[in-house]
Amino acid sequence: MANKENCMYPKVIIDMAKLKQNLDAVAETTVDKGGCSLAIVTKVLCADSTVVEMIANHPKVNLIADSRIKNISTYTDIAHEHGKKTMLLRIPMISELSDVVRYVDLCQISEIETIRLLNQEAHQGDKVQKILLMIDMGDLREGFFFKDKELIHEAVSEILGMENIELYGIGVNLTCYGAIIPKPDNLGGLVEIAREIEGKHGIQLQMISGGNSSSIYLIDRGELPEGINNLRLGESFVLGNDTAYETKLPGTTDDAFILEAEIVELKSKPSLPIGDVGVDAFGQKPYYEDRGIMQRAIIAVGKQDVDIDSMTPVDNRVEIMGGSSDHIILDVTKCTEENGGEYKVGDIVQFTLGYGGLLKVMTSPYVEKEYLK
Ligand SMILES: *Cc1c(COP(=O)(O)O)cnc(C)c1O
Repeated sequence: MANKENCMYPKVIIDMAKLKQNLDAVAETTVDKGGCSLAIVTKVLCADSTVVEMIANHPKVNLIADSRIKNISTYTDIAHEHGKKTMLLRIPMISELSDVVRYVDLCQISEIETIRLLNQEAHQGDKVQKILLMIDMGDLREGFFFKDKELIHEAVSEILGMENIELYGIGVNLTCYGAIIPKPDNLGGLVEIAREIEGKHGIQLQMISGGNSSSIYLIDRGELPEGINNLRLGESFVLGNDTAYETKLPGTTDDAFILEAEIVELKSKPSLPIGDVGVDAFGQKPYYEDRGIMQRAIIAVGKQDVDIDSMTPVDNRVEIMGGSSDHIILDVTKCTEENGGEYKVGDIVQFTLGYGGLLKVMTSPYVEKEYLK
């Protein structure tokens, strides 16, 4: 691959057509087949404005969601212009409630004390704040524990008495802390709790939000429990991943994002370091495999830009050996003239990214962005 002049590296190339294809695919499954409303999650993209515009223009997206209000605040206006709602995924800090009222249409929340303060804040902002009460169905991250029925009903009673809070629905998050897979029983349990709340308190909940990219597989199997009417999708949209069983969703691609980095050194060296072994730049004791003399390339990208365990060379002759803040070392021994061509200093090496890699690449101010239309 030739170096292109006047280009800045490292760089992520964002293929908007592929990303749109992924969005079409997850929207078709979630909305058309699953009968759910669709919240597309922007946190892994640091709410990239070009991608947000594409999401806002998609007719099947209902909500644009993020864990960080700072990201949401960049697109509240564009979301509203396109008739979409904004949604806050991380249960809010008490210290950010004024921003919730300002930027967030639907707020996931799980602490009654925070809801009381949000009610006050919404009153001051002359707003009725919609909330999604989170229920923990066993993953043990956020939410009222599903067995604490009394606590749930007490909270609902109190919320219903609040003038500036609207209980819009309930939701669950799974496969995050406890790696618990959404199934008909735990999601069915969520629907049961919703029906119980409705019966006991004489209300109708608008939304029962059934989780993230680990729930979408249930639609294709016809196993999404009746009553679940919303999913919040990030990884399945950006990378096409069903995160329950690590399969690829039909009609999606995993290479809408390509990281490019430039080779700054290329030398034959031993594979074993020479001298007493201490710890590396991150305090870890490294392990080396003796591969004899290796052809090693250093690329100018590092842990400040990407997650080394979450990137894969597009050229399958290349292997990642390790790296530090600003450098990654590649084994390019197999890249010979007879075997498809050699690299030289200044050449560009490409990588596909996993979720963690993409998160870092999109968050690092050192990584340039290029959009393919
Ligand atoms: C990040 C997040 C999502 C989206 O998760 P993906 O696995 O990327 O689809 C959904 N809900 C909550 C609460 C989240 O924090």
